[in-house]
Amino acid sequence: MLLPVLILTVVRSIFAQDLDILQNSQLLNNDGGGVIGWEYPQEQRSQSDFLVDATQAEPYFLDWKYHNYDSMTRYLRKTTSTFPNLTALYSIGKSVQGRELWVMVVSTSPYEHMIGKPDVKYVSNMHGNEVVSRELMLHLIHYLVTNYNKDHYVKWLLDNTRIHIMPSMNPDGYEVAKEGVCDGGQGRYNARGFDLNRNFPDYFKQNNRKPQPETEAVKEWLSKIQFVLSGNLHGGALVASYPFDNTPNSLFQSYSSYPSLSPDDDVFKHLALTYSTNHAKMSRGVACKSSMPGFSKGITNGAAWYPLTGGMQDFNYIWYGCMEVTLELSCCKYPPANELPTYWADNKLALIKFLGEVHRGVRGFVMDENGNPVEKASLKIKKRDVGFQTTKYGEFWRILLPGVYVLEVYADGFVPRDLEFAVVEDHPTLLNVTLRPAKFGEHYNRPVTSPPLSMIPPIPQKTTTTKPTISGDESIYFPKD
Ligand SMILES: [Zn+2]
Repeated sequence: MLLPVLILTVVRSIFAQDLDILQNSQLLNNDGGGVIGWEYPQEQRSQSDFLVDATQAEPYFLDWKYHNYDSMTRYLRKTTSTFPNLTALYSIGKSVQGRELWVMVVSTSPYEHMIGKPDVKYVSNMHGNEVVSRELMLHLIHYLVTNYNKDHYVKWLLDNTRIHIMPSMNPDGYEVAKEGVCDGGQGRYNARGFDLNRNFPDYFKQNNRKPQPETEAVKEWLSKIQFVLSGNLHGGALVASYPFDNTPNSLFQSYSSYPSLSPDDDVFKHLALTYSTNHAKMSRGVACKSSMPGFSKGITNGAAWYPLTGGMQDFNYIWYGCMEVTLELSCCKYPPANELPTYWADNKLALIKFLGEVHRGVRGFVMDENGNPVEKASLKIKKRDVGFQTTKYGEFWRILLPGVYVLEVYADGFVPRDLEFAVVEDHPTLLNVTLRPAKFGEHYNRPVTSPPLSMIPPIPQKTTTTKPTISGDESIYFPKD
């Protein structure tokens, strides 16, 4: 089913100014300029760079083999020079060993946030030895840029969405992982032996693991760009796993059959099913091995599979209202390269359909009586106590299934509002909210959300002086994904 073309309020033109932005880093830091405040320090290029690349006879091509850091970097750079109006490359920071944490934006507005246009992301290879999705991200980039003018769905997606793709969150781990090794932990951890998917602040339990450069970079990234939808890509199983990953009851157990359901469980189930049912095999729910569970329809609640502390998907959801699903894409963590075309064929449709789900639910702007945006207004859907906030342009998005809901809006200095609205299947509901200033002496209570808003942005984590073991900070059970 194709989602209909969405008419968005796009208030800035693109293309012509993109190259200017590339050549003028000051614009990137100009809050009034409409740029979302992310810098592109490694990839600022002059227009002549594009002209040189454009005249090269070398075709734009991606082969079916694994790409180490250097060859991946070359491919990403080649992409930006070949498709400067559809892609932008930036780094959110460096790994322990100094490799860039590359992110490629694919969109018709790659260099700046277009007001009203949601940002979505895929983050891959945070476990360095789970490599299929890393290659699939490169092929996804290739597919999107080469099909923009051929495929109506791809054109619609890139016209209306800003897609950020991080092929590798753990480039150091990748470099020591071995092709053909399906299981085990070599390359899983970062260069200091930490599991990056146990390294985020946790809603249910104190996480005392020392924050790592890779996770710190991601946390800063999430604080700067308000992502609405995200996929966290792994290997070692074939399932779409959704929040919560942790549970209040996980103290004495590594495995549990009890789900830990979020207030948006219906939405998360839908998102996970969108992936599994558009995947060639996932929804069959066949177990990878007899010792592993099968998953009904290819989806599971994270904690029902096994609870974990410090995962990235719960952090995205609780701290920033970004709906992230963990996508396990291969039974073998590092299969032979000749199997990559099959993995791409199995996942291609699911990868692009999942991102389209950001255009579902409700979206709009919160403004004052003069039409000025209200930044950091606190929003929540009544009876769903995980909150979210407006951007500096007053924008908000929330993925919801068809139904009738109440949006609660609170902002300091204004009279709070509750607005009832309906969501239908075919297109998102546009809901603009005007707030009236509170009169002197009027006091209103902030709505209850999880976590308390004082925890946004994330509080600094306590650091430990414990030296990690060579096998990382996992000692209770051997990780499956
Ligand atoms: Zn993993």
